[in-house]
Amino acid sequence: MPRPIIATIDLAALAHNLDVAKRHAPHAKVFAVVKANAYGHGLLRAAAALRGADGFAVVEFDAALKLRAAGYAQRIVLLEGFFDRAEAREGAARRLATVIHHPSQLALLDGLPAGSRLDVLLKINSGMNRLGFKPDAVAQACAALQAHPAVGKVTMMTHFADADGASGVDWQLETFERAAAGLALPRSLANSAAVLRHPHTHFDWVRPGIMLYGSSPFAEVSAQALDLKPVMTLRSEIISTCELKPGDSVGYGCTFCADRPMRIGIVACGYADGYPRHAPSGTPVLVGDRIAGSVGRVSMDMLCVDITDRPEAGVGTPVVLWGEGNPADDVAQAAGTVSYELFCALAARVPVSEIN
Ligand SMILES: *Cc1c(COP(=O)(O)O)cnc(C)c1O
Repeated sequence: MPRPIIATIDLAALAHNLDVAKRHAPHAKVFAVVKANAYGHGLLRAAAALRGADGFAVVEFDAALKLRAAGYAQRIVLLEGFFDRAEAREGAARRLATVIHHPSQLALLDGLPAGSRLDVLLKINSGMNRLGFKPDAVAQACAALQAHPAVGKVTMMTHFADADGASGVDWQLETFERAAAGLALPRSLANSAAVLRHPHTHFDWVRPGIMLYGSSPFAEVSAQALDLKPVMTLRSEIISTCELKPGDSVGYGCTFCADRPMRIGIVACGYADGYPRHAPSGTPVLVGDRIAGSVGRVSMDMLCVDITDRPEAGVGTPVVLWGEGNPADDVAQAAGTVSYELFCALAARVPVSEIN
């Protein structure tokens, strides 16, 4: 028998979560965001389940080419744009769409063959202060794109910094509106949080990511309450047990010390599988059919769980590190991170199996 760790990817849940996005934004087209290997879920696997999307958004040029080569005819947009002229040429030939977020990227379009019809999303920096043209530079950049012989459709785009938080979106929307005033062009603004919470930002194209993978973009609302279903479930088993006396410690650094007689289970999953090493004692782990708490430091190949009051648990008991029955959002919160990071970190050594 192989090492018992496995990640299952629920394709029906992915398709369901896309439907949830469409239900929230019924008048917009959807770019399914599949950057970073579809947030760790597998690019082509996820794309197959998300084929009902109007387009795909990626960061990696080779991912865009893979989607085209697999036969997807939808719009495919590069969220950071092209990095050199060769990419721009090949991208245009493959009918990719690109974000243009900086004046230096305009120059990359100059090498394109006449007759190219490259679709562009012109990115406006409305307050995220990462990528995008400052509002007062937008009209000029837009005019340059519209006059460019190799450019096809132009869409106005921005990205929200706090659509899930207290600042909300309106302060950025105001800046966007000012920058886009007088430009009657399609718009793409909303990430998952804005899809779910800010319908007045939906406009023409929405860009949901994390919600497709079954996580909540909001710290205070569960995925379940949003009707999102978990897609990735990371499963393993208890491979050993250990009895502790008061004063015994567990694992590297002796960070956990028993204050009573305890029984712990050793789980075949560690940071080399993608489990966060900084997850503290008490991080939720589903053992059998109930949540237990982790104890001690996560090591490369193992972590430990408290099964003191779980006499039925032992070698071979199934464990869910995150996913079905143990929301990734809860695990991420306990570990001081977000489920995005958990999913993206799933290690190549973990076998993946698809369920329908
Ligand atoms: C990653 C990304 C998204 C998706 O964000 P989620 O929070 O996962 O919904 C949307 N737009 C851009 C520009 C992105 O980089």
